Amino acid sequence: MSRSVLVTGGNRGIGLAIARAFADAGDKVAVTYRSGEPPEGFFAVKCDITDGEQVEQAFKEIEAQQGAVEVLVANAGVTRDQLLLRMSDDDFTSVLDTNLTGTFRVVKAAVRKMLRARKGRVVLISSVVGLTGQAGQANYAASKAGLVGFARSLARELGSRNITVNVVAPGFVDTDMTRVLTDEQRQNIVGQVPLARYAQPEEIAASVRFLASEEAAYITGAVIPVDGGLGMGH
Ligand code: NDP
Repeated sequence: MSRSVLVTGGNRGIGLAIARAFADAGDKVAVTYRSGEPPEGFFAVKCDITDGEQVEQAFKEIEAQQGAVEVLVANAGVTRDQLLLRMSDDDFTSVLDTNLTGTFRVVKAAVRKMLRARKGRVVLISSVVGLTGQAGQANYAASKAGLVGFARSLARELGSRNITVNVVAPGFVDTDMTRVLTDEQRQNIVGQVPLARYAQPEEIAASVRFLASEEAAYITGAVIPVDGGLGMGH
């Protein structure tokens, strides 16, 4: 059965791997991208999730192309790392506005139609850091922890309408986001990961696809760690 899937930030990294996984399974997949070129092979809409009007417009275009979104993967996110005393208001609020409020904006737009359809799947991409904390990432960790409370509230609010809301919490994944780290930082991280390596984006995508599948119909409000053991189940 081909479903209407939307992946935010689906032009690169984890989002692109997620979009490919759904497309390979035969779903109709739309992606949003904020900058650069749209990825080949997907219906792509330019959208900055910090702008509510752009989000509304993107949903109109996607719904006209492939029908109401049945599976939403809120993946778009940013880092702006800084130690607390050097962290500006803008460093903090811009990360919150993208990772947490931006997710709220796209989830709200998708759920409107899911409620009418009385079914839907929402998967939010958090991070192990939201649960364990990370020096230099207070803004990012707060935003990613916020997603857990957000998802669990919605799991309660929407469960009776057959809409599941779950969170995937990746550990360190080999993408542009982590390629900015120095070799020393990367080695330190790998040293703390029981599986002693970074994840590939496809390994995150597999869990997302599972949570959106029929087999996962009874899973909601869950946080699934895909982190090589770094968070030890948290
Ligand atoms: P990338 O930096 O490779 O990609 C981030 C994506 O988010 C891009 O598509 C980017 O668009 C998009 N994006 C950023 N800001 C906005 C915005 N305001 N509006 C719309 N789109 C936006 O990151 P990853 O693929 O590594 O990360 C994907 C998700 O996974 C993020 O939420 C991240 O926090 C999370 N994550 C990543 C981990 C990792 O180790 N890589 C670990 C744990 C979680 P554009 O191309 O235009 O910049």
